[in-house]
Amino acid sequence: MKLIEIESLEAYYGDMQALFGVDLDLRPGEAFGLVGANGAGKSTLLRSMVGLVNDRRGHIRLAGDDITHMQAEDIAQQGIALVPEGRMLFASLNVEENLMMGAMNRRQGHWTLERIYDLFPILAERRKQMAMTLSGGQQQMVAIGRALMSNPRVLLCDELSLGLAPVIVNQIYESFARIRQDGLSIILVEQDIERAISVSDRMVCLLHGQVTMRVDDTSRVNLDQLSAAYFGE
Ligand code: ATP
Repeated sequence: MKLIEIESLEAYYGDMQALFGVDLDLRPGEAFGLVGANGAGKSTLLRSMVGLVNDRRGHIRLAGDDITHMQAEDIAQQGIALVPEGRMLFASLNVEENLMMGAMNRRQGHWTLERIYDLFPILAERRKQMAMTLSGGQQQMVAIGRALMSNPRVLLCDELSLGLAPVIVNQIYESFARIRQDGLSIILVEQDIERAISVSDRMVCLLHGQVTMRVDDTSRVNLDQLSAAYFGE
């Protein structure tokens, strides 16, 4: 069964075409990696899936329903949540208020404030602190927690490691084991290829808005091929 099916997806910013016929599918409970050089179209693919790229063509299906042209709010309600690149927290809100923003239009499910605090105990300690005064790693935890508060079926993570020390990145990815416990499916964009390989079950490499390589089993990836697909050699 396929939870997400993306077929011939194109995305445009005005006259500029950023995605050229991308096909991808996601199975329930799977962690799926997206890798590729700067500007390859990774963020555009994630943002298209949550309705944040206006001009998108082709098909995106969630559990068989075509959501290609749905509004962002409706897609969120259908169960796709994005942890955006750069976190995009609400600067005027404290930690708990940021988390509660994810609960607007919330679906029924596992995640509550208490469970987010159990996942990231430091956020419970800092619950009344303004979000932007936290460290980068803690801000990333808030961004993940905010997305989880909507109780998504699919969690999209855009470069969680950006600007964070490796030890903090390890902590963040360690939380994935618990996040995935209930069968949540994840698509993650990751600059660090080794990290993407270790976290994902399958992955694709994008270059100039096209898939240049599919890896159906990350435990048997050919790194030379992946490097060629990444750099377009
Ligand atoms: P990065 O790793 O740098 O985030 P990426 O693989 O996520 O790169 P995208 O951000 O999706 O790539 O960008 C794909 C292409 O679309 C690039 O050529 C980029 O310049 C362009 N692009 C992205 N966002 C916009 C925008 N809002 N308006 C115009 N062009 C954009």
